[in-house]
Amino acid sequence: MIQNHIGGQKLPAASGQTLDDIEPATDRVWTTIPDSDALDVDVAVAAAKAAQPAWAQLGVAARCDVLQQAAVLLEQRLDAFAALESRDTGKPVSLTTATDIPRAVANLRFFADLARNEPEERHAMDTHTNLTHRAPVGVVGLITPWNLPLYLLSWKLAPALAMGNAVVAKPSELTPATADALASLLEEAGLPPGVFNVVHGLGAKAGDALVRHPAVQAISFTGGTATGKMVAAAAAPMFKKLSLELGGKNPAVVFADSDLDVAVPGVARAAFTNQGQVCLCSSRILVEASIYDAFRNRLMAEVATWKHGDPGDPTVRLGSLISQDHRDKVAGYVDRAAESGARVLCGGQKQDGPGAFYPITLIDGVAQSDPIVQEEVFGPVATLQPFSDEAEALRLANDVPYGLAATVWTTDAAKAQRFSEGLETGMVWVNDWLKRDLRVPFGGMKQSGVGREGGTHSLDFYSELRNLCLENP
Ligand code: NDP
Repeated sequence: MIQNHIGGQKLPAASGQTLDDIEPATDRVWTTIPDSDALDVDVAVAAAKAAQPAWAQLGVAARCDVLQQAAVLLEQRLDAFAALESRDTGKPVSLTTATDIPRAVANLRFFADLARNEPEERHAMDTHTNLTHRAPVGVVGLITPWNLPLYLLSWKLAPALAMGNAVVAKPSELTPATADALASLLEEAGLPPGVFNVVHGLGAKAGDALVRHPAVQAISFTGGTATGKMVAAAAAPMFKKLSLELGGKNPAVVFADSDLDVAVPGVARAAFTNQGQVCLCSSRILVEASIYDAFRNRLMAEVATWKHGDPGDPTVRLGSLISQDHRDKVAGYVDRAAESGARVLCGGQKQDGPGAFYPITLIDGVAQSDPIVQEEVFGPVATLQPFSDEAEALRLANDVPYGLAATVWTTDAAKAQRFSEGLETGMVWVNDWLKRDLRVPFGGMKQSGVGREGGTHSLDFYSELRNLCLENP
């Protein structure tokens, strides 16, 4: 049984209500979580508010020592956390071992180093000197989705703690396990009780109460665009700091001069990692017409080599989707596309048996206006569309409401830069995908979000920059 983590204690919801946590690969209930409401959020925010001043007064070096120690402990327990995350999400343990948990370790280390080593900002004038410094925001609310639970929570939590804030987190109710384990680990690493609190439960109840709580001064939200709109509407009138990392409908643009030995496996990885449930996944594959057939055939051969099945098997590359409901949503998009004349090249059928499994599905013969091209499916489903020249590729790539990320595949460096500059996305990778440097800005344009996190952008969000203009002695 997973409990809320408030003020260093494991507590049930005040109402006593619980929710089942289902293991996606087996459909079995494997634990329960508190079905928290506004009362529980109140208690957690009060604990955070009480703990925050002393945490801030510790100073940045001591705070970063705690984060570093947490990174050491998490690295020592990597296999246990990887197994927990895989069980809770249905994603392959090979992925949680190679990516999710190492990335959480890296987030803790990176932001500890960055905050500790940030140079002082000082601007001298004739009679005065400006000293710019960071103050904590206070109590920060973190709301995270189910697709990368620890990875995204640690991405927000590390800079928030380094800046001297106290935190109340509301993980997705579908994936509560690693947030709970992290809360205990952080206190073992020396984090004072109350500085990091976790309230489990439903978004519309516990999440909404956190967003609306008057003592929570900033909300960092990662999730779907529709939910992001509700969060923004609730938070904006209270003038809270708000960071929104939302959905994507990301193009992979493959030019005829690309190296197919790189592009074919690269696009497959970009489209189908984590069962296609990464906001950055390339779900629209645009291919120059002269190589369209050759690329499509090679991509189909490539995805046929991916082993599907038990997420606990270390050789599996495609595990279970997050839930039966989500699989139905994904399958619905594919079924409707097929009914309206699209061609399903591979996959497209729900698998029998327990678990929310769905195969890699490639679709062509789609129109740009089709829902499967315009809307985020968030599963192992990608469309293929041919283009005749750069202008058409750019038009198709940009003609969606989202603007999170793109990949471009070409051996022509000048074309890569020219084309990438025209893309309406916050991030572009050339001949690669998800190559992350934690110093660089992360975030989307259009309906993919508001604001940037990453490096000093995260420090800016999780602090109040203040300027003191002092008279020279
Ligand atoms: P949701 O938007 O459904 O949920 C995200 C989080 O918000 C969950 O914790 C959810 O709780 C909570 N929530 C739901 N309703 C409210 C509310 N009214 N007020 C406050 N919180 C609420 O997203 P998913 O969990 O389905 O995650 C998938 C989405 O996340 C995709 O659209 C994906 O693109 C996006 N995403 C974006 C990323 C980015 O960086 N741009 C990165 C990763 C994912 P509950 O689970 O209980 O509903």
